[in-house]
Parts: sequence; C-alpha cells; structure tokens
Amino acid sequence: MWYIAANVESAALMSIYKPIVYLLCFFGWAAVVSFFDKDLKFYFLPRRHWNALQIIAGIIGFGLALLVNFWLGLLIILVVAGSAAAGYVFYRNTRLPEQHRWHLNTELLTSRFNRIQHEQAQKRATLRLLTPDRALVDVPTGADPQAHAHSVLEQTLEFALPRGADRIDVAVMAQAASIGVNVDGVKHTRPEIDSQAAMTLIDYAKKHAQLDIQDRRHKQIGEMFIDAADLGRHTLRVVTSGSTRGITMAIYIDPMTRITIGFDDMGLLPEQAAILRRVVASDNLAVLIACPPHHGLTTALYNCLQQHDPYTQSIVTLEEEVAFDVEGVNHHLIEPSWNSTQITDRLAALLRQDPSVLMLGKLTDSQVARLLSRNANETRLYIGLHLGDTVQVMRAWTKAVDDSKLAAQSVAAVLVQRLVRKLCPTCRVCYTPDQDVLRKLNLPPDKVTQMYKQSGQILVRNKPTTCPDCHGLGFRGRTGIFEVMELDDETRKLWAAGQVEQFRALLRKKKMLWLQEAALMRVIDGTTSIQETMRALGKTESQRPTAVAG
Ligand SMILES: [Zn+2]
Repeated sequence: MWYIAANVESAALMSIYKPIVYLLCFFGWAAVVSFFDKDLKFYFLPRRHWNALQIIAGIIGFGLALLVNFWLGLLIILVVAGSAAAGYVFYRNTRLPEQHRWHLNTELLTSRFNRIQHEQAQKRATLRLLTPDRALVDVPTGADPQAHAHSVLEQTLEFALPRGADRIDVAVMAQAASIGVNVDGVKHTRPEIDSQAAMTLIDYAKKHAQLDIQDRRHKQIGEMFIDAADLGRHTLRVVTSGSTRGITMAIYIDPMTRITIGFDDMGLLPEQAAILRRVVASDNLAVLIACPPHHGLTTALYNCLQQHDPYTQSIVTLEEEVAFDVEGVNHHLIEPSWNSTQITDRLAALLRQDPSVLMLGKLTDSQVARLLSRNANETRLYIGLHLGDTVQVMRAWTKAVDDSKLAAQSVAAVLVQRLVRKLCPTCRVCYTPDQDVLRKLNLPPDKVTQMYKQSGQILVRNKPTTCPDCHGLGFRGRTGIFEVMELDDETRKLWAAGQVEQFRALLRKKKMLWLQEAALMRVIDGTTSIQETMRALGKTESQRPTAVAG
C-alpha cells in the first residue's frame, strides 16, 4: 500500500499539470469511444462487443497508469487505449466497402481542416456576394487566389459604404496599381496593392458581374449584388475597359438610387427653380444643360424630362447609357462604335417621328448641333454638355451650330451645374469670417456674421472623437449649385452678335446668379464652406461676383 501511495504521489499529485494531462487524456478517450459507438450503430456492427472492449482497455490503461510514474503512465494509456482504437479501425475497414473505410492520410486531414476553415470564413465574412437571384455565394478561402481579391474588396467596401461613396476605381498599369474611393466627388486613395492582386480583383468582380473575363480590351458593363451585413445589401455596377496604358475598373455603388434625386432636391435656389419650371413648361427650343464630368449631368437631364407628362407628350432620348427607365419615355442607345454621321442619322430619324420632347445625353459635335438647332422650333430639346459655365456654353453652341443667329434663337435656357459637398451638420464648426475675406467676396460684413467649416470630430466628454455621421470626413452628401439663364429677345440679340462682355453685363443687370454667387448663398446658410465651394468650382470664366446678400 505504501508503495502504491508513494507512486501515485510521485506520478500525479506532486504537480498540478499532471492530473490535468490525465484528465484531458480521459476526456479524449471518452470522446473517441462515444464517436465509435455512433459509428458502430450507423453501420450495424457489433456495438456491444466493441464498446465493452474499448471500456475494458480504458480501465486497464488508466488503472495501470495510476500505479507507475507519470511518463510511464502516459505511455501505458496511449498504448492500451490506442491499440483498442486501432483494433476497431482495422476491424471496420475489413467489414465496410472501400468508400466508407478510414484511411489515415494527410490529404484527408488537410481537406477536413480546409472545410472547417471555409465554414468559419463564411460566418466571419462581413461581405458576401450574391447571385443574380440573390442567393449567397461562398466566400473564397485558403489558397484560392480569389480569397485575397475578396478581402481587398471587403476592406474597400468597409471604407466606402459607411461614408456614402458612389464609386470605386481600380487602375492597373504596367508597374503599379491603385484603388481610389470616390466620396461626394473627392477621391480617397486606399492602401497600395500590387498589379497582380489588382488584376485578380478585377477578374473576380467581372466574374460575378457576368462579364467576359478573357476580354480585357473592350468596355464591358455588368451588375453584381452584395450583402455587406450591417451595411446592408447593395447593387454594384461594374464597368471595365482596357487600353495600351492599362486596365481600369469602376464600381458604381447603387447607381440607380443616386440618379433618383428629385427636382426639388437638386439644390436650385427658389428663384432658380421658378425660372426652370417656367422654361420647362414651354414647348419648344433647346435647354442646354452643362457641367464638368461627374457633376450630376444625368440627374439634371432626367429631372427636366420628368417634368413632362409622358401620357400627353411623346418623349424620346438618345444617350450613351440609360441610367434608368423613366416611365413612358422611349430611351434609345448610342452604340459605342457609332460615328458622328450615324448619331446624326439616328437623331434625324427620331425627329421625323415628331416627338414633343427629345433629350440628347451629350452633344458630340457640330453636325449634331446643326441638326438640332434647325429642329428646335418644333421640339423641346434637352442637350447635355460637359462645359463649365454659361458663357462657355454660349460660345461652344455658337461654334457648333456655325450660325450665331440660329444658335441664339434655338435656345430657351442654359442651366449650368456644379456639385458641392454639404457640411456634416453633426460636426460642422461655426466661426466668425474675416472682414477682408468678406469684402473680397462682395459680402456685407455687417450681415454675414458667421460661417461654418468642416471638422469631422465631435466632443464626447470633452475628448475629440471621430464624428459617427461622416466618419471623420466633415462632409455628408452633395448639393447642386446652379446658373440658370433664361433667354429673351435682349439676351438673344447680344448672343447672336457675339458681344460677350455686354451679354455678361446684361445678365448681371437681370440679377442672374453666377455659380460663385449661388455657392456663396449656400455658404451663408451653412450648407457648405468657402473652401469647399472654391474646390468644387475651380476656376471658371464667369466668376465675377457681385453683391448677393446686400
Ligand atoms: Zn460629421
């Protein structure tokens, strides 16, 4: 007895980890025996015999282990219980057909491990792609080369979605690649990525947007759908194209919802909205709508179209891409391969159908302008141009029509637009503007006593913290800034005569707001900041401010 007690003491009780090791062995053994029991039952093997054998082996193994020292005890457990387990594996392999047998090979273990890893990754993923019928697609994991692409897309969207980004740009050049996220017209560069990884990302997006992965040259447009957990489900429009310089991909986030900003939410000042409504109500001549690229041209064009009743008026469009189907409107597409003559022929064919309203997404050239100006008396035309201000539009239209009188007479109004970012109302900071700055801007210092600027931070218990609404950017959303010019006989006369300075002076006399003046009104009411309007407006020809708040 003394001998046994001494051994037990020396084997296990002397230190704390030894009983724990034995206990773990015991639980492991119990789990294996329980698993064998289920297996025996499933395959109708002699369950009672084998269970008895495993238990007897366990009792002998663990019993003997208590009589000897720790390491020897461990060895006994492994040998005795292990032999019984191995015996069972050998036995079942002789009784069951090949496909149900157990083989100890690394391939099997690896595949089991990968499967577990894969299942966990599906649960952990904050981004899941969806099939066109909105079923979840498995997240690629492990050695799958697409796994990295998925995680780059996931991280990029985790930045883009909460900040209300509208576009992600991926560019792959020979030596380098870049990812930029466009939030309210400002590009935020994301961490660098190597060209190969960026290429895989483009192929991954193309695959899920049902595009041809092999074709890296032609412009392709497709849609993919995502489930971004707490950040919601979204539609991504994927546009890829290639050139000798490299391959690019643009991902437009929820493009449809961005275009559906109504007429009243465009940002027109009340007097501008009144003029535009009046112009829209008249039934012929051209309304030229201009802004630089990515400044909301499509939204402005579609909003004007939607002011017409499609049930009493026939409305047609000719555009490079149909942003969304406006009810009752006949949309027509310009094929990318068309030349100027083909576009003109198509427009002529549409005009022969005598529509009440025709919209041309973007003025391409002189041939088109001449055709439209000749037909402006019969049809209301909405024509998009990528130009910066009213005077530029006047000059470009005159040059394209190649007849200054016809150019002036064919136009009912010019609408010029810019988008500026709106200050985040949660974190914007109020300040007293400098008197000299106000004087330079022609603003009366006694009337403009406060302005706002961006911050991106709020105070939580007196500690500066990132603003939860704009995620530190200081801005949230955009609004339009406009020049709205309605032509009358007087202005048409100066336009036709090409007298730009007099034309400008007349518009000033008529109190038309130039872009900068319209922007300043948005600064004064706290919608945006001076710095932001300067950034968004850049340098344009007509920025000659006059007093607007006096
Ligand atoms: Zn904020």
